[in-house]
Amino acid sequence: MTTTSELTQREKRPVDLINAGSLLSDEEKRVRDLVRDFVDREVIPVAADHWDRAQFPFGLLPGLGELGLVGGTLSGEYGCAGWNNVAYGLGIAELARGSGSLATFLHVQSGLAMTTINELGSEEQKLRWLPPMAKCEKIGCFGLTEPEAGSDPGSLSTTAVEKDGGYVLNGEKKWIGNASFSDVAVIWARTDDGKISGFLIETDNPGFQADVLPRKASQRAAWQTHITLEDCHVPESARLPKATGLGATLSILTHSRYGVGWDGLGQAADCYETALAYAGEREQFGRPIASFQLVQQKLVEMVNEISLSQLLSIHVGRLKDAGGLDPATVSMFKMNNVAKARRIAATAREVLGGNGILLDYRVMEHMADIEGVYTYEGTNDVNTLIVGQAITGHRAFSPEPPQRAEERTE
Ligand SMILES: Cc1cc2nc3c(=O)[nH]c(=O)nc-3n(C[C@H](O)[C@H](O)[C@H](O)COP(=O)(O)OP(=O)(O)OC[C@H]3O[C@@H](n4cnc5c(N)ncnc54)[C@H](O)[C@@H]3O)c2cc1C
Repeated sequence: MTTTSELTQREKRPVDLINAGSLLSDEEKRVRDLVRDFVDREVIPVAADHWDRAQFPFGLLPGLGELGLVGGTLSGEYGCAGWNNVAYGLGIAELARGSGSLATFLHVQSGLAMTTINELGSEEQKLRWLPPMAKCEKIGCFGLTEPEAGSDPGSLSTTAVEKDGGYVLNGEKKWIGNASFSDVAVIWARTDDGKISGFLIETDNPGFQADVLPRKASQRAAWQTHITLEDCHVPESARLPKATGLGATLSILTHSRYGVGWDGLGQAADCYETALAYAGEREQFGRPIASFQLVQQKLVEMVNEISLSQLLSIHVGRLKDAGGLDPATVSMFKMNNVAKARRIAATAREVLGGNGILLDYRVMEHMADIEGVYTYEGTNDVNTLIVGQAITGHRAFSPEPPQRAEERTE
């Protein structure tokens, strides 16, 4: 028997009201369609069940690793696809359409861990880790956040003390995606000189422990962990040679934040497509609910925001490809697409009525997953402050340090 949700799935059409697809090259469309096909065939049939059971979909990793999406913009020299940033973003949006949780796995593996190794690692570290990570044969994570250091990563307290020609790390990390099944962890810690530095820690190190955070109501099919580093000895070769100072850390976040912006677009698109298909099928008062003005208004508001997000996403990707993308624009992009997705998911849920809260329809899953995305890669507030500083010149993250008397010019 065909369930209503299967019918809706069949009736769904990819949203592109304003023909944003006409702005894409043939190669970009090929990548989009490649990931879309994988998502339709492999991800969508199993995603809701994994989310419901809070199980990570390990069975999807080999197929995901074949696509070229993991580390998609990195060089072929390291076994990666070398796509441009628009193609990579389109692939992320398609993956997020199928599963916000799997897209979060990708942001950690590709946007954070692989990008750190590529940008801040030695040639030896790159050759060792990037090719198997691109295929998902090896998994990585990125440990920056701590129980007491979230939006303010500069206050992190994990230490890396020099000893016996290497380092000993001690501290705790919270919210770290993938770490319970990672082979390698990028860990940010404070060295003896007081600076923040990055290390690559192999997770079979006896001083490394990662425990999955239980009872999560968002990103249920992705696993975040609490990492404990207890007298974790690593050799000098574990240090990422270019990962020194908070600026290095933030440059990686800017890259990953770019991918997360496309994630918002993908999840919003899926919510809208479900709501439109459902409204066409569902009849009340003897007519499809799509024929009611109030329902149409909701659908139009959704497609209007999605269309604007599509244009913004392609434009931001083109800027990144041209090397002219500044961090504040990335913050605005992530903030816009994810905040819009949050509203679109809630509106789509409303259009589906009671069925909107059933996991079969996937809208509630997106709605919950977007809450995680709204918070990671800079909360909506933090990205607002980054844009605010860019346009006003005033930094509003914390009170300005009081000016000392001898610095006053009058
Ligand atoms: C699903 C998920 C996955 C994650 N994955 C990872 C990962 O793989 N690796 C990793 O290192 N981290 C990860 N994180 C952590 C994430 O980066 C942090 O949650 C985020 O930076 C916010 O930190 P916090 O949760 O400690 O909130 P806090 O920083 O405590 O913020 C609490 C509230 O205060 C607001 N706030 C904070 N400072 C200001 C300010 N100056 N002005 C105004 N408002 C402010 C925030 O916007 C927020 O609303 C993940 C988080 C989630 C939820």
